[in-house]
Amino acid sequence: MRSIVIFMMAAALLPAADLTKEGDRWWSHIQVLADDKMEGRNTGSAGHLRAAQFVAGEFERAGLKPAGTSGYLQPVKFKVAQIVEDQSSLAIVRDGKVTPLKLGDDANLSVRPGLAESVDAEAVFCGYGLLVPENHFDDFAGLDLKGKIVVYIAGGPSDVPGNLRSHYSFRAERWRAIQKAGAIGVAAIANPKSMDIPWERSTLARLNAAMELADERMADAPGQQFGATINPAHAEKFFAASGHTFAELLALADQGKALPRFPLHIRLRATERMRMSEVESQNVVALLPGSDSVLKNEYVVFGAHLDHLGVGAPMKGDAIYNGAMDDGSGVASLIEIATMAKLESLRPRRSILFIAVTGEEKGLLGSQYFTGAPTVPFKNIVAEINMDMYLPLYPLKNLEVQGLDESSLGADIRAICEKAGVIVQPDKEPQRNLFIRSDQYSFIRRGVPALTFKFGYDAGSPEEKLAKDWLRERYHAPSDDLNQPVDKSAAARFNRLMLDLGMRVASANGRPSWNADSFFKRFER
Ligand SMILES: [Zn+2]
Repeated sequence: MRSIVIFMMAAALLPAADLTKEGDRWWSHIQVLADDKMEGRNTGSAGHLRAAQFVAGEFERAGLKPAGTSGYLQPVKFKVAQIVEDQSSLAIVRDGKVTPLKLGDDANLSVRPGLAESVDAEAVFCGYGLLVPENHFDDFAGLDLKGKIVVYIAGGPSDVPGNLRSHYSFRAERWRAIQKAGAIGVAAIANPKSMDIPWERSTLARLNAAMELADERMADAPGQQFGATINPAHAEKFFAASGHTFAELLALADQGKALPRFPLHIRLRATERMRMSEVESQNVVALLPGSDSVLKNEYVVFGAHLDHLGVGAPMKGDAIYNGAMDDGSGVASLIEIATMAKLESLRPRRSILFIAVTGEEKGLLGSQYFTGAPTVPFKNIVAEINMDMYLPLYPLKNLEVQGLDESSLGADIRAICEKAGVIVQPDKEPQRNLFIRSDQYSFIRRGVPALTFKFGYDAGSPEEKLAKDWLRERYHAPSDDLNQPVDKSAAARFNRLMLDLGMRVASANGRPSWNADSFFKRFER
């Protein structure tokens, strides 16, 4: 009783949060992280190392303890592959007649260590390229795929729930099913309706270095010989001998229907020259020790990714992909949350781990490394709260929460938002697979309940237009830089919500749990 009175007095004495000041402080971290001097923080680059040292310094200033393997840093080794495009080729072979394809325009070859230098194999269209046992949905059943290449349209039938579809679309999961069916490679056609980035822009990234964790125990698509992505605007070429049209299939996909599967009666012939090297990059890991003598051995993780795309193909004369929102914003939030905890002397019962990971843009590799080689006992990590490109472009009225209905963390964020007068929205676009597309998924796949967020909006609102325009124009473009309109106080409000969420979860009696009916419960240890 007494402690409650004291707590209430303390709360009453706390000045109301100064969101303008906090928003400016949050932005000041982004000004460092997204400065041209950081050269876009590419995994393995000197710019990324400088950014990692900056974050380590800020964590130290916020009173956090080092929790990496080398102070605040956890070095991670990568294998690197880069395509030599003028020595590479892709062609369609039909009845012995060879039709060369234009790389960059018709299709792009996947780049990753381990792919074969030359491949010549039959192509089979396999619908969405999905195997979802829970729904008895199998795009590979009854097809002879031995030694062949699977061609599919990204997406899935609408009667498979979004999270399930996301899970089985995850590279490692999809590849496992394809490999089991006997195929040696895969070619994906994006559905133009759910492409975040138009082909003309995404194709610019094909010359970028691709990476894989050097630790082979962590490889996630072993045995894959061939990979490609096909420009949907030129996809009819692949169907010309099949008796089907891409347009007809796309119409079915747009209605969420199951797709037919059939041989394309063509072979794909590829030669791929890659330049290989190795680099080292850094996760940054810091600890706010818990106050409870027992619970302090458990950890709530706040995560964001430090890496971005580095220096690449210039757009409008700018070649530095600064990544201010992606994910400078999330890393700045880590620093802010730690800073507020210090300024307000907050000591949750459990410990809180702050992790800025590398290699996210290369395929969630830094988080995969951390979860495979954790610096604290992994079974004691009770939750992951991930912040990646949450897009504070307008006031925070709605918060979209991915993973909302999967674990007890859903009730936590609902309670925090209700108190703050913020409306919680579930994932509005499950077809974009956002739940598997950032680092929370490395934790989820190892059993840890997690959430990730976007600023929400109402359908047809000006906010929706702002968010969608941002994705089309700035997402993974050099214009995601310091010269863009951002609502800093809204970001400060978001940071407060995250702080409250972390404190609530870290101080609760019980640890978070997956809902009984959640698909992800299967990963529980
Ligand atoms: Zn990104």
